[in-house]
Amino acid sequence: MLEYDIVVVGGGPAGLAAAISAKQAGVGSVLVLERDRELGGILNQCIHNGFGLHTFQEELTGPEYAARFIERLKEERIAYKLNTMVVEVSKDKIVTAMSRKEGLFEIQAKAIILAMGCRERSRGALNIPGYRPAGIYSAGTAQRLVNMEGYMPGREVVILGSGDIGLIMARRMTLEGAKVKVVAELMPYSGGLKRNIVQCLDDFGIPLKLSHTVVDIAGKERVEGVTLAKVGKDRRPIPGTEEYYPCDTLLLSCGLIPENELSRGMGVEMSPVTFGPLVNECLETNVGGVFACGNVLHVHDLVDFVSEEASVAGKRAAEYVQSGAKHLQSKGQDIPIRAAGGVRYTVPCTVNPDRMDEEHTLRFRVGDVYKGCYISVYLNQERVIHRKRPVMAPGEMEEAILKREQLLAFQGLSQVTVKIETQ
Ligand SMILES: Cc1cc2nc3c(=O)[nH]c(=O)nc-3n(C[C@H](O)[C@H](O)[C@H](O)COP(=O)(O)OP(=O)(O)OC[C@H]3O[C@@H](n4cnc5c(N)ncnc54)[C@H](O)[C@@H]3O)c2cc1C
Repeated sequence: MLEYDIVVVGGGPAGLAAAISAKQAGVGSVLVLERDRELGGILNQCIHNGFGLHTFQEELTGPEYAARFIERLKEERIAYKLNTMVVEVSKDKIVTAMSRKEGLFEIQAKAIILAMGCRERSRGALNIPGYRPAGIYSAGTAQRLVNMEGYMPGREVVILGSGDIGLIMARRMTLEGAKVKVVAELMPYSGGLKRNIVQCLDDFGIPLKLSHTVVDIAGKERVEGVTLAKVGKDRRPIPGTEEYYPCDTLLLSCGLIPENELSRGMGVEMSPVTFGPLVNECLETNVGGVFACGNVLHVHDLVDFVSEEASVAGKRAAEYVQSGAKHLQSKGQDIPIRAAGGVRYTVPCTVNPDRMDEEHTLRFRVGDVYKGCYISVYLNQERVIHRKRPVMAPGEMEEAILKREQLLAFQGLSQVTVKIETQ
């Protein structure tokens, strides 16, 4: 059996950054396993710019951003295998993978970093009535077809869901000569970044219909049109509000689901909110020596935060290996972090003041649109952070920075709470 100190599952931006940081922390052998034919993950199909503003203070395309990390991976002489699918990871860190070249093989790792990204919610999971004609694609599939395979999925397009991929594809299809008639969104707010609504819809005069959904799809062989209807507060269609849009293509951009089949299989505990693993501030799961980062942990809006978070996972996995699996477990006490008052979840969900870095960035999403409200952080009952935000929306990730010194100085700390407050 092959042996590596750290095996990274997934060669997207998370896997790349985690592998680089682990190697730079001094770990002897790191291996990245990627099922695709190249490294870079979802970034390879994101040929629009807007990546890397935080990391490089430059606006890069997805492939340019990925290329910088791939170069560093190669400079660090980190091993990687392409066209290699990980099919199982056991609790004792035996990774089973397969490829055409090598068949089925096993690798014994000392630590594992899960970085498998996420997949799109499919039509099946959305319960849209009507036949199953050709012309219905997830927005990410359409993006791959247009940007990588050179194939145009259709000419007259309706998009359901206003997540970032849907918004970006509205612009992309328009630039390629298609007519995007409307973007319909079930919720009363968009699921995407404000900047994408402005740059991808407003700039091209594409209407966004909030609180709307698809109630029927016409066409048996190929999509001929879709019927949209307004929905009430209960998210159910309101009879009499139906509008028919003739079109040949329906793109679905209705959410991303972290790819956690492998994690579940090895007994990693999951969050019912993010569908990603529950982790401590080292981004370590309940299975010692198994770390998670990137979209497999929680769906990110910006890739810069993916890279930043993944570097933490890499560094901590390196510490785990270098200390002979003792260091992370033996220190101090894990303090639970409670998400309350409008905060849907936090990553991490526990913090250990004795073990944490000088600062730790806590990331979370809110469950509604909040204007002129405050992000508050409490240590037990005492408020230590109170930061005003002009707007917070579910489509944008928020953060709060925990300081080790402050947490250590607090006597009898038993809980950290993050909430949204109006004053
Ligand atoms: C359409 C779209 C537009 C975006 N636009 C922007 C933008 O403008 N700006 C920005 O900053 N961010 C943007 N993002 C977000 C950013 O691209 C993601 O946050 C980032 O790619 C997530 O990185 P990741 O490594 O976690 O996942 P991914 O990039 O999905 O990588 C995961 C990798 O794991 C591999 N994998 C999965 N399972 C296995 C397995 N079992 N075995 C082996 N390999 C496996 C996959 O093949 C994949 O390569 C966009 C994302 C999308 C989808």
